[in-house]
Amino acid sequence: MNTAEKYARFVAMIAAKQDVDRYRVVLDNGHVEGMLLTLAQAEGFECLSCKVLCGTGTKAFRPVGHAEPLGFDAPGVGRVFRCVDCLDGVRGGEVR
Ligand SMILES: [Zn+2]
Repeated sequence: MNTAEKYARFVAMIAAKQDVDRYRVVLDNGHVEGMLLTLAQAEGFECLSCKVLCGTGTKAFRPVGHAEPLGFDAPGVGRVFRCVDCLDGVRGGEVR
C-alpha cells in the first residue's frame, strides 16, 4: 500500500467517526465541560475546537485533557487534543 492509499484509508476511517455525541471532557487545567464531539474528536483524531486532523507546524496537536462518554454503550475514548492554531487563538475558537 502506498502513501496515498494509506491516507485515503485514514480519511475514510475518520469519515466513519463523525457521529456526534455528548461527552464529559476533563481538561488538564481542571475544568470539566460537557461538549458535543464527534467520535473522531473524542478519540483524539481531530482537534477539539476546529476538527482539523493532526499535522505539523500550526496543525500539530497538543493534549488538553480526556473525554469520557456520557452515553451508555459508548465506545472507548481517550486523550483529546487541540491544534496549535486553536491553542494560540489564531482561529478564534476557544476563549480560555
Ligand atoms: Zn484546532
